Amino acid sequence: MNHKNSEKLYQKGLKHLVGAVNSPVRAFASVGGNPLFIKKAKGSKIVDVDANKYIDYVLSYGPMILGHRHKKVEKAIKKALKNGYTFGASTKNEIKLAKIVCDAFTGIDKVRFVNSGTEAVLSALRLARAYTGKDKIIKFSGCYHGHSDALLVAAGSGLATLSLPGSKGVPEGAVKNTLIANYNDIDSVKAHFDKHDDIAGVIIEPIAGNMGVVLPQENFLKELKDYLHSKNALLIIDEVMTGFRSKFGGAQEVLGVEADITCLGKVIGGGFPVGAYGARNEIMEMVAPLGGMYQAGTLSGNPIAMAAGIATLTELKKQNPYQKFEEVALWLENTLLEKANKHNIDIVVNRFGSMINPFFTKGKVTNFEEAQQSDTEKFAVFFWEMINSGIFLPPSQFEAWFLSSSLSEKDLEKTEKAIDKAMKAVA
Ligand code: PLP
Repeated sequence: MNHKNSEKLYQKGLKHLVGAVNSPVRAFASVGGNPLFIKKAKGSKIVDVDANKYIDYVLSYGPMILGHRHKKVEKAIKKALKNGYTFGASTKNEIKLAKIVCDAFTGIDKVRFVNSGTEAVLSALRLARAYTGKDKIIKFSGCYHGHSDALLVAAGSGLATLSLPGSKGVPEGAVKNTLIANYNDIDSVKAHFDKHDDIAGVIIEPIAGNMGVVLPQENFLKELKDYLHSKNALLIIDEVMTGFRSKFGGAQEVLGVEADITCLGKVIGGGFPVGAYGARNEIMEMVAPLGGMYQAGTLSGNPIAMAAGIATLTELKKQNPYQKFEEVALWLENTLLEKANKHNIDIVVNRFGSMINPFFTKGKVTNFEEAQQSDTEKFAVFFWEMINSGIFLPPSQFEAWFLSSSLSEKDLEKTEKAIDKAMKAVA
Protein backbone atom coordinates (compact mmCIF):
# COMPACT_ATOMS: atom_id res chain seq x y z
CA MET A 1 0.00 0.00 0.00
CA ASN A 2 1.50 3.36 -0.86
CA HIS A 3 1.01 6.59 1.05
CA LYS A 4 2.81 8.94 -1.33
CA ASN A 5 0.14 11.62 -1.44
CA SER A 6 -0.33 11.53 2.33
CA GLU A 7 3.42 11.91 2.70
CA LYS A 8 3.43 14.90 0.32
CA LEU A 9 0.57 16.58 2.17
CA TYR A 10 2.27 15.88 5.49
CA GLN A 11 5.46 17.63 4.34
CA LYS A 12 3.38 20.54 2.99
CA GLY A 13 1.24 20.68 6.12
CA LEU A 14 4.26 20.96 8.41
CA LYS A 15 4.84 24.49 7.15
CA HIS A 16 1.57 25.99 8.35
CA LEU A 17 0.09 23.48 10.80
CA VAL A 18 1.73 22.24 13.98
CA GLY A 19 2.86 18.71 13.18
CA ALA A 20 0.58 18.98 10.12
CA VAL A 21 -2.42 18.16 12.33
CA ASN A 22 -5.13 19.98 14.24
CA SER A 23 -5.29 17.47 17.08
CA PRO A 24 -2.25 15.60 18.42
CA VAL A 25 -4.10 12.26 18.47
CA ARG A 26 -4.01 12.33 14.66
CA ALA A 27 -0.21 12.56 14.55
CA PHE A 28 0.68 8.84 14.55
CA ALA A 29 3.32 9.93 17.07
CA SER A 30 3.63 6.69 19.00
CA VAL A 31 3.40 4.27 16.09
CA GLY A 32 6.35 5.69 14.18
CA GLY A 33 5.15 7.10 10.92
CA ASN A 34 3.39 10.07 9.45
CA PRO A 35 -0.33 10.78 9.54
CA LEU A 36 -2.61 9.65 6.76
CA PHE A 37 -4.65 12.31 5.02
CA ILE A 38 -8.25 11.37 4.36
CA LYS A 39 -10.20 12.32 1.27
CA LYS A 40 -13.64 10.88 1.86
CA ALA A 41 -15.72 8.29 3.66
CA LYS A 42 -18.99 6.44 3.21
CA GLY A 43 -20.68 3.81 5.34
CA SER A 44 -18.10 1.63 7.09
CA LYS A 45 -15.22 2.77 4.86
CA ILE A 46 -12.80 5.65 4.80
CA VAL A 47 -10.55 6.52 1.84
CA ASP A 48 -7.20 8.30 1.99
CA VAL A 49 -5.68 10.70 -0.55
CA ASP A 50 -3.81 7.77 -2.18
CA ALA A 51 -7.17 6.05 -2.85
CA ASN A 52 -6.50 3.38 -0.20
CA LYS A 53 -9.77 2.15 1.28
CA TYR A 54 -10.02 1.14 4.93
CA ILE A 55 -12.70 -0.32 7.18
CA ASP A 56 -13.06 2.44 9.74
CA TYR A 57 -12.80 1.58 13.46
CA VAL A 58 -11.90 5.18 14.40
CA LEU A 59 -15.13 6.82 13.28
CA SER A 60 -13.69 10.27 14.02
CA TYR A 61 -13.01 9.02 17.58
CA GLY A 62 -16.61 8.02 18.11
CA PRO A 63 -19.21 10.30 16.55
CA MET A 64 -19.95 8.34 13.37
CA ILE A 65 -21.91 5.54 15.04
CA LEU A 66 -24.12 5.00 11.96
CA GLY A 67 -21.11 4.96 9.67
CA HIS A 68 -20.25 7.85 7.36
CA ARG A 69 -22.75 9.90 5.40
CA HIS A 70 -25.89 8.07 6.42
CA LYS A 71 -28.52 9.11 3.91
CA LYS A 72 -31.02 10.36 6.48
CA VAL A 73 -28.40 12.47 8.22
CA GLU A 74 -27.23 13.89 4.93
CA LYS A 75 -30.79 14.75 3.91
CA ALA A 76 -31.36 16.58 7.20
CA ILE A 77 -28.14 18.56 6.83
CA LYS A 78 -28.99 19.61 3.27
CA LYS A 79 -32.45 20.71 4.36
CA ALA A 80 -31.03 22.73 7.26
CA LEU A 81 -28.43 24.41 5.02
CA LYS A 82 -31.16 25.96 2.93
CA ASN A 83 -32.46 27.92 5.90
CA GLY A 84 -29.14 29.47 6.89
CA TYR A 85 -26.18 28.44 9.00
CA THR A 86 -26.32 30.35 12.26
CA PHE A 87 -28.60 33.05 13.66
CA GLY A 88 -27.50 33.91 17.18
CA ALA A 89 -31.08 33.23 18.25
CA SER A 90 -33.03 30.16 19.28
CA THR A 91 -34.42 27.60 16.84
CA LYS A 92 -37.05 24.86 17.06
CA ASN A 93 -34.51 22.10 16.48
CA GLU A 94 -32.59 22.98 19.66
CA ILE A 95 -35.72 22.09 21.63
CA LYS A 96 -36.19 18.92 19.59
CA LEU A 97 -32.64 17.66 20.23
CA ALA A 98 -32.88 18.70 23.89
CA LYS A 99 -36.04 16.60 24.28
CA ILE A 100 -34.35 13.55 22.75
CA VAL A 101 -31.45 13.94 25.21
CA CYS A 102 -33.69 14.55 28.24
CA ASP A 103 -35.91 11.57 27.36
CA ALA A 104 -32.88 9.29 26.98
CA PHE A 105 -31.18 10.19 30.28
CA THR A 106 -33.28 9.80 33.43
CA GLY A 107 -31.02 12.21 35.35
CA ILE A 108 -31.37 15.04 32.84
CA ASP A 109 -34.33 17.43 33.06
CA LYS A 110 -32.61 20.22 31.19
CA VAL A 111 -29.63 20.40 28.90
CA ARG A 112 -27.34 23.12 27.53
CA PHE A 113 -25.68 22.64 24.15
CA VAL A 114 -22.10 23.74 23.58
CA ASN A 115 -19.62 23.09 20.76
CA SER A 116 -17.35 20.31 22.03
CA GLY A 117 -16.84 17.74 24.73
CA THR A 118 -14.18 19.95 26.27
CA GLU A 119 -16.67 22.78 26.68
CA ALA A 120 -19.32 20.42 28.06
CA VAL A 121 -16.95 19.18 30.74
CA LEU A 122 -15.47 22.52 31.76
CA SER A 123 -19.00 23.91 32.07
CA ALA A 124 -20.10 20.89 34.11
CA LEU A 125 -17.25 21.48 36.57
CA ARG A 126 -18.23 25.13 36.90
CA LEU A 127 -21.80 24.05 37.53
CA ALA A 128 -20.79 21.51 40.19
CA ARG A 129 -18.79 24.20 41.94
CA ALA A 130 -21.62 26.71 41.66
CA TYR A 131 -24.14 24.24 43.07
CA THR A 132 -22.08 22.91 45.96
CA GLY A 133 -20.18 26.10 46.76
CA LYS A 134 -17.01 24.00 46.88
CA ASP A 135 -13.90 24.19 44.70
CA LYS A 136 -12.07 20.90 44.43
CA ILE A 137 -12.71 18.21 41.82
CA ILE A 138 -11.42 14.65 41.77
CA LYS A 139 -10.53 13.02 38.48
CA PHE A 140 -9.12 9.56 37.77
CA SER A 141 -5.72 9.02 36.24
CA GLY A 142 -5.95 7.80 32.66
CA CYS A 143 -9.34 9.45 32.10
CA TYR A 144 -9.42 12.25 29.57
CA HIS A 145 -12.05 14.96 29.78
CA GLY A 146 -10.95 17.40 27.09
CA HIS A 147 -8.19 19.96 27.17
CA SER A 148 -9.37 22.52 29.72
CA ASP A 149 -6.59 23.61 32.10
CA ALA A 150 -8.00 22.04 35.26
CA LEU A 151 -8.24 18.58 33.72
CA LEU A 152 -4.92 18.27 31.92
CA VAL A 153 -3.41 16.26 34.73
CA ALA A 154 -2.73 12.52 34.67
CA ALA A 155 -4.89 12.44 31.58
CA GLY A 156 -5.35 9.71 28.97
CA SER A 157 -5.81 9.98 25.20
CA GLY A 158 -3.09 12.01 23.44
CA LEU A 159 -1.27 12.74 26.70
CA ALA A 160 -0.96 9.02 27.38
CA THR A 161 0.14 8.43 23.80
CA LEU A 162 2.83 11.10 24.06
CA SER A 163 3.73 10.08 27.67
CA LEU A 164 2.97 13.58 28.94
CA PRO A 165 2.14 13.88 32.67
CA GLY A 166 0.26 17.11 32.01
CA SER A 167 0.53 20.16 29.78
CA LYS A 168 3.03 22.98 29.75
CA GLY A 169 1.33 26.34 29.98
CA VAL A 170 -1.16 25.24 32.61
CA PRO A 171 -0.57 27.46 35.64
CA GLU A 172 -0.21 25.76 39.01
CA GLY A 173 -3.22 27.70 40.22
CA ALA A 174 -5.40 26.15 37.52
CA VAL A 175 -4.77 22.61 38.79
CA LYS A 176 -4.53 23.30 42.49
CA ASN A 177 -8.15 22.26 42.89
CA THR A 178 -7.76 19.05 40.87
CA LEU A 179 -7.17 15.88 42.86
CA ILE A 180 -6.20 12.56 41.25
CA ALA A 181 -7.60 9.16 42.20
CA ASN A 182 -7.08 5.68 40.75
CA TYR A 183 -9.77 4.17 38.54
CA ASN A 184 -11.63 1.35 40.30
CA ASP A 185 -10.15 2.35 43.66
CA ILE A 186 -12.76 3.90 45.93
CA ASP A 187 -10.24 4.18 48.78
CA SER A 188 -8.15 6.57 46.70
CA VAL A 189 -11.25 8.80 46.47
CA LYS A 190 -12.00 8.51 50.18
CA ALA A 191 -8.40 9.44 51.01
CA HIS A 192 -8.95 12.84 49.38
CA PHE A 193 -12.17 13.44 51.33
CA ASP A 194 -10.28 12.58 54.54
CA LYS A 195 -7.91 15.45 53.78
CA HIS A 196 -10.19 18.04 52.16
CA ASP A 197 -13.62 19.39 53.07
CA ASP A 198 -14.12 21.45 49.93
CA ILE A 199 -14.59 18.78 47.25
CA ALA A 200 -17.44 19.65 44.86
CA GLY A 201 -17.49 16.34 43.05
CA VAL A 202 -15.85 13.59 41.09
CA ILE A 203 -15.69 13.40 37.31
CA ILE A 204 -15.40 10.00 35.70
CA GLU A 205 -15.57 8.26 32.35
CA PRO A 206 -18.15 5.58 33.21
CA ILE A 207 -16.37 3.27 30.80
CA ALA A 208 -12.89 4.65 30.32
CA GLY A 209 -11.98 4.86 26.65
CA ASN A 210 -9.00 7.16 26.77
CA MET A 211 -6.46 4.78 28.30
CA GLY A 212 -7.76 2.12 25.98
CA VAL A 213 -11.02 0.59 27.15
CA VAL A 214 -11.12 0.03 30.91
CA LEU A 215 -14.31 -1.07 32.63
CA PRO A 216 -15.50 -0.06 36.06
CA GLN A 217 -15.65 -2.97 38.46
CA GLU A 218 -19.12 -4.09 39.46
CA ASN A 219 -20.90 -1.50 41.59
CA PHE A 220 -17.91 0.89 41.50
CA LEU A 221 -20.01 3.78 40.21
CA LYS A 222 -22.93 3.06 42.54
CA GLU A 223 -20.62 2.87 45.53
CA LEU A 224 -18.90 6.05 44.38
CA LYS A 225 -22.21 7.90 44.05
CA ASP A 226 -23.45 6.83 47.50
CA TYR A 227 -20.18 7.88 49.05
CA LEU A 228 -20.19 11.25 47.27
CA HIS A 229 -23.75 12.00 48.37
CA SER A 230 -22.81 11.17 51.95
CA LYS A 231 -20.23 13.95 51.57
CA ASN A 232 -22.57 16.39 49.81
CA ALA A 233 -20.54 16.12 46.64
CA LEU A 234 -21.71 15.44 43.08
CA LEU A 235 -21.07 12.63 40.63
CA ILE A 236 -20.26 14.06 37.19
CA ILE A 237 -20.37 11.36 34.55
CA ASP A 238 -18.53 12.21 31.37
CA GLU A 239 -20.46 10.40 28.64
CA VAL A 240 -18.87 12.36 25.79
CA MET A 241 -17.66 9.03 24.41
CA THR A 242 -20.25 6.62 25.80
CA GLY A 243 -23.42 8.73 25.48
CA PHE A 244 -25.82 7.10 22.98
CA ARG A 245 -22.98 4.67 22.17
CA SER A 246 -23.07 2.21 25.09
CA LYS A 247 -26.84 2.31 24.95
CA PHE A 248 -29.37 4.99 23.95
CA GLY A 249 -29.34 6.14 27.59
CA GLY A 250 -25.56 5.94 27.73
CA ALA A 251 -23.37 3.87 30.04
CA GLN A 252 -25.62 5.07 32.87
CA GLU A 253 -28.48 3.01 31.48
CA VAL A 254 -26.34 -0.13 31.30
CA LEU A 255 -24.68 0.35 34.68
CA GLY A 256 -27.88 1.42 36.43
CA VAL A 257 -26.43 4.57 37.92
CA GLU A 258 -27.64 8.13 37.41
CA ALA A 259 -25.24 11.06 37.31
CA ASP A 260 -25.85 14.35 39.08
CA ILE A 261 -24.39 16.07 36.02
CA THR A 262 -23.91 14.35 32.65
CA CYS A 263 -21.54 15.50 29.89
CA LEU A 264 -22.21 14.57 26.27
CA GLY A 265 -20.56 15.12 22.87
CA LYS A 266 -19.46 13.11 19.82
CA VAL A 267 -22.55 11.05 18.76
CA ILE A 268 -25.04 13.80 19.63
CA GLY A 269 -23.62 16.02 16.88
CA GLY A 270 -23.75 13.34 14.17
CA GLY A 271 -20.31 14.45 12.95
CA PHE A 272 -20.69 18.16 13.67
CA PRO A 273 -19.27 20.06 16.67
CA VAL A 274 -21.75 19.59 19.51
CA GLY A 275 -21.31 19.00 23.22
CA ALA A 276 -23.86 19.21 26.02
CA TYR A 277 -24.20 19.11 29.75
CA GLY A 278 -27.38 18.32 31.61
CA ALA A 279 -28.76 17.60 35.05
CA ARG A 280 -31.89 17.73 37.18
CA ASN A 281 -33.80 21.03 37.23
CA GLU A 282 -32.51 22.17 40.62
CA ILE A 283 -28.93 21.96 39.36
CA MET A 284 -29.48 23.29 35.83
CA GLU A 285 -31.39 26.28 37.15
CA MET A 286 -28.04 27.57 38.45
CA VAL A 287 -27.09 28.27 34.81
CA ALA A 288 -27.56 31.77 33.30
CA PRO A 289 -30.03 33.23 32.36
CA LEU A 290 -31.93 31.47 35.20
CA GLY A 291 -29.05 31.46 37.66
CA GLY A 292 -25.68 33.02 38.28
CA MET A 293 -23.40 30.40 36.71
CA TYR A 294 -22.37 31.94 33.41
CA GLN A 295 -21.68 30.00 30.24
CA ALA A 296 -22.31 31.06 26.64
CA GLY A 297 -21.44 30.38 22.99
CA THR A 298 -21.75 32.19 19.64
CA LEU A 299 -22.30 28.94 17.73
CA SER A 300 -23.92 26.88 20.49
CA GLY A 301 -26.99 25.01 19.23
CA ASN A 302 -25.82 25.59 15.66
CA PRO A 303 -28.69 24.78 13.25
CA ILE A 304 -26.72 22.43 10.98
CA ALA A 305 -25.26 20.57 13.94
CA MET A 306 -28.70 20.28 15.59
CA ALA A 307 -30.18 18.86 12.37
CA ALA A 308 -27.36 16.30 12.10
CA GLY A 309 -27.75 15.39 15.77
CA ILE A 310 -31.52 14.92 15.56
CA ALA A 311 -31.27 12.79 12.41
CA THR A 312 -28.48 10.66 13.91
CA LEU A 313 -30.25 10.01 17.20
CA THR A 314 -33.59 9.38 15.51
CA GLU A 315 -32.03 6.83 13.18
CA LEU A 316 -30.04 5.30 16.04
CA LYS A 317 -33.18 4.82 18.08
CA LYS A 318 -34.86 3.19 15.11
CA GLN A 319 -31.94 0.88 14.32
CA ASN A 320 -31.37 0.00 17.99
CA PRO A 321 -27.99 -1.56 17.08
CA TYR A 322 -26.88 -2.27 20.66
CA GLN A 323 -27.47 -6.03 20.55
CA LYS A 324 -25.63 -6.21 17.23
CA PHE A 325 -22.74 -4.22 18.72
CA GLU A 326 -22.56 -6.69 21.57
CA GLU A 327 -22.38 -9.63 19.17
CA VAL A 328 -19.80 -8.01 16.89
CA ALA A 329 -17.64 -6.94 19.83
CA LEU A 330 -17.76 -10.45 21.30
CA TRP A 331 -16.79 -11.87 17.92
CA LEU A 332 -13.94 -9.33 17.65
CA GLU A 333 -12.72 -10.17 21.14
CA ASN A 334 -12.70 -13.89 20.34
CA THR A 335 -10.97 -13.28 17.03
CA LEU A 336 -8.25 -11.14 18.63
CA LEU A 337 -7.66 -13.70 21.38
CA GLU A 338 -7.67 -16.64 18.99
CA LYS A 339 -5.19 -15.08 16.56
CA ALA A 340 -2.94 -13.81 19.37
CA ASN A 341 -2.96 -17.28 20.88
CA LYS A 342 -2.17 -18.85 17.51
CA HIS A 343 0.96 -16.67 17.24
CA ASN A 344 1.90 -16.91 20.93
CA ILE A 345 1.29 -13.28 21.82
CA ASP A 346 0.01 -12.09 25.18
CA ILE A 347 -2.94 -9.76 24.90
CA VAL A 348 -5.81 -8.60 27.08
CA VAL A 349 -9.01 -7.54 25.33
CA ASN A 350 -11.33 -5.10 27.09
CA ARG A 351 -14.69 -4.20 25.63
CA PHE A 352 -18.00 -2.60 26.48
CA GLY A 353 -20.79 -2.28 23.93
CA SER A 354 -19.29 -0.88 20.76
CA MET A 355 -15.94 0.06 22.32
CA ILE A 356 -13.10 -2.46 22.33
CA ASN A 357 -9.33 -2.76 22.13
CA PRO A 358 -6.52 -5.23 22.76
CA PHE A 359 -3.68 -4.37 25.15
CA PHE A 360 -0.36 -6.05 24.40
CA THR A 361 0.13 -7.17 27.96
CA LYS A 362 -0.61 -10.06 30.32
CA GLY A 363 -3.05 -10.38 33.17
CA LYS A 364 -5.73 -7.74 33.38
CA VAL A 365 -6.18 -4.05 32.71
CA THR A 366 -8.36 -2.34 35.30
CA ASN A 367 -6.59 1.01 35.63
CA PHE A 368 -4.09 3.35 33.98
CA GLU A 369 -1.06 1.77 35.59
CA GLU A 370 -1.98 -1.64 34.22
CA ALA A 371 -2.79 -0.17 30.78
CA GLN A 372 0.66 1.39 30.72
CA GLN A 373 2.27 -2.05 31.07
CA SER A 374 1.33 -2.66 27.43
CA ASP A 375 4.04 -3.16 24.85
CA THR A 376 3.52 -0.11 22.64
CA GLU A 377 6.15 -1.30 20.16
CA LYS A 378 4.14 -4.45 19.51
CA PHE A 379 1.06 -2.28 19.12
CA ALA A 380 2.89 -0.16 16.52
CA VAL A 381 3.76 -3.25 14.44
CA PHE A 382 0.17 -4.47 14.75
CA PHE A 383 -1.20 -1.05 13.80
CA TRP A 384 0.81 -0.72 10.56
CA GLU A 385 0.01 -4.26 9.48
CA MET A 386 -3.66 -3.51 9.99
CA ILE A 387 -3.35 -0.28 7.99
CA ASN A 388 -1.63 -2.15 5.18
CA SER A 389 -4.46 -4.68 5.20
CA GLY A 390 -7.05 -1.92 4.90
CA ILE A 391 -8.15 -1.56 8.53
CA PHE A 392 -8.16 1.94 10.03
CA LEU A 393 -7.47 1.90 13.78
CA PRO A 394 -6.61 4.67 16.23
CA PRO A 395 -2.82 5.12 16.04
CA SER A 396 -2.30 4.54 19.75
CA GLN A 397 -2.42 1.71 22.28
CA PHE A 398 -4.37 4.04 24.56
CA GLU A 399 -7.45 4.69 22.43
CA ALA A 400 -10.67 2.70 22.01
CA TRP A 401 -11.71 1.16 18.71
CA PHE A 402 -15.29 2.00 17.79
CA LEU A 403 -17.92 -0.03 15.95
CA SER A 404 -20.49 1.48 13.62
CA SER A 405 -23.84 -0.01 12.70
CA SER A 406 -22.75 0.01 9.05
CA LEU A 407 -20.20 -2.81 9.45
CA SER A 408 -20.98 -5.73 7.13
CA GLU A 409 -20.17 -9.46 7.29
CA LYS A 410 -17.62 -8.87 4.55
CA ASP A 411 -15.96 -6.14 6.62
CA LEU A 412 -15.65 -8.57 9.51
CA GLU A 413 -14.17 -11.30 7.32
CA LYS A 414 -11.58 -8.84 6.05
CA THR A 415 -10.88 -7.71 9.60
CA GLU A 416 -10.31 -11.31 10.72
CA LYS A 417 -7.77 -11.96 7.97
CA ALA A 418 -5.99 -8.70 8.78
CA ILE A 419 -5.79 -9.54 12.48
CA ASP A 420 -4.26 -12.92 11.70
CA LYS A 421 -1.62 -11.31 9.49
CA ALA A 422 -0.93 -8.52 11.98
CA MET A 423 -0.53 -10.90 14.94
CA LYS A 424 1.86 -12.99 12.85
CA ALA A 425 3.92 -9.86 12.18
CA VAL A 426 4.00 -9.01 15.90
CA ALA A 427 5.17 -12.51 16.87
N1 PLP B 1 -14.54 13.64 27.43
C1 PLP B 1 -14.24 12.44 26.90
C2 PLP B 1 -14.60 11.19 27.65
C3 PLP B 1 -13.64 12.35 25.65
O1 PLP B 1 -13.35 11.15 25.14
C4 PLP B 1 -13.32 13.54 24.96
C5 PLP B 1 -12.66 13.50 23.65
O2 PLP B 1 -12.18 12.50 23.19
C6 PLP B 1 -13.64 14.76 25.55
C7 PLP B 1 -14.25 14.78 26.78
C8 PLP B 1 -13.35 16.04 24.84
O3 PLP B 1 -14.19 16.19 23.74
P1 PLP B 1 -13.78 17.13 22.52
O4 PLP B 1 -12.60 16.51 21.87
O5 PLP B 1 -15.01 17.18 21.68
O6 PLP B 1 -13.46 18.47 23.10
